[in-house]
This record gives sequence, C-alpha cells and structure tokens, in this order.
Amino acid sequence: AGTLYVVATPIGNLQDITLRALEVLRSVDHVVAEDTRHTRKLLSAHQIRVPLLSCHAHTSAEGLSRIVSLLKKGAQVALVTDAGTPGISDPGVALIQETLRHDLQVIPIPGPCAAIAALIVSGLDSQPFAFLGFPPSRGAHRTQFFVKYANLSMTRVLYESPRRLVRTLEDILDQWGDLRVAVARELTKVHEEVFRGTVSQALDVYREGTRGEVTLVVEGAPVASNGEVLQDASWKHALEAYLD
Ligand code: SAM
Repeated sequence: AGTLYVVATPIGNLQDITLRALEVLRSVDHVVAEDTRHTRKLLSAHQIRVPLLSCHAHTSAEGLSRIVSLLKKGAQVALVTDAGTPGISDPGVALIQETLRHDLQVIPIPGPCAAIAALIVSGLDSQPFAFLGFPPSRGAHRTQFFVKYANLSMTRVLYESPRRLVRTLEDILDQWGDLRVAVARELTKVHEEVFRGTVSQALDVYREGTRGEVTLVVEGAPVASNGEVLQDASWKHALEAYLD
C-alpha cells in the first residue's frame, strides 16, 4: 500500500520549505491540497508538476474514501494545507485520521507551524504549553471555551482571525485577567510584527483593528507556591450562570 506524507509548507515566506518536503512533493503520485490554486502557486515556484486533489473543510466522507482507496492501491500521496503543518487547526486532520483507520502508513515531513513560531518568539515559558486552536466564534461554546481554560497554569497558544482579535483580547482580559501576552502577526512575511506586553496594552494597540494573520500567546494562570491557581475565574462563571 501507499504512504500518506504529511508535508509542512510555508506560513508566509515561500523559502520556508525543507529540502525533504520538496523531494517528497516531487516524487509522489498525488498532492492533496486544501486550496489547489494556492498550492499550485507554491509548487510552480519550485517547478514541481504533480496531479492535485482537493481536501478541505467540506470534503465528504466519500471524498476522503476516494483518497484512501488510492493509497490502498499503492499510490504515494502528500497532504498539504494552505499554510504550515497539516493537521494543526486545519482540515488535514480528517484525512490523517481516515488513513490511520485503514491501517495505512502516515509519515510526517515537519516544518513551519505558526503556533510554534509564535511561541518561541513570545518570550513566555515554552514549556509546558497548551495549544488551544481557534476559540469558537460565538455563543455559549465561546464562553465555555474561555472559562474552561481560565485556570490553566501553562502558556496558552491560540489562533484567531484578525476580525475577532479585539473581541478575543477582551474575553481574555475578562476571563483570564490582565496577563502577559504576545500577539504574533504576519510571521515570516514582510509586515512581521510581534507585540509583547499585557492584554490591556495589546487592546490599546489593536483597538482600531488590524490585518493579516495573528497568533496569540498568553502566559499561564498565576500559581501560588502551594501550587494553587491564584486567579480563579470559575466563581465569576458560576455567578453569571446563576444570574442568567
Ligand atoms: N496548519 C497551520 C499551522 O501549522 O500553523 C495553521 C492553520 S490555521 C487554519 C491558520 C491560522 O494560523 C491563522 O488564522 C493564524 O491564527 C495562524 N497563522 C497562520 N500563518 C500565520 C502567520 N504567518 N503569522 C501568524 N499567525 C499565523
């Protein structure tokens, strides 16, 4: 049977692709991409010609099965997404899980990942850390998300769209407190910028809005010497639930 190679691609700068990634992309029978037009640009920048298949957030179970059946017939397949490491807050994870369900081989070709890039330049403790992905955009799920991770005493990394950056900073301030934060924007791109300060300072800077891609890194909830989390947001949630 074939192998699914999970290939990391640039998060902005086209040069951020490993020699091994290029070798794999050149040698496989198919490249499965989130947005084929986007990936076509990357491949042509490196003079790679290979048939592209698409796999995105709306790909059906049958769509995934078709790719898995290619693997079963012995095809070598590379999975890439629009940016960074497939499977990290993107549609890649569905195909990886489906491939593993059929006991087929999955091999990582590591490379760029926005979460790790942001974490290492944040200046905050890089271990332990928790990767929280995107906060739900609205409703009860969103409230529960911030409550659930309020007492986590480790560095928290979040993805967010620029449109919701201010709302998310406000929710963090409200639910987690005025902690230290790094707002990593447009990493590896021309307008790369990392803001480091408190959540309220970040709000002052970004209140007017911002563009580009952002990753947030927030310090862990402060812990007392006896190991107890000092800043406990759960009382607040309990009160809100009571008043509702
Ligand atoms: N799989 C990708 C990875 O490994 O980083 C992440 C995919 S997720 C759909 C896209 C999110 O990653 C963006 O909304 C943003 O939060 C973050 N991101 C991607 N590129 C970035 C960049 N150049 N600078 C900062 N954050 C970035």
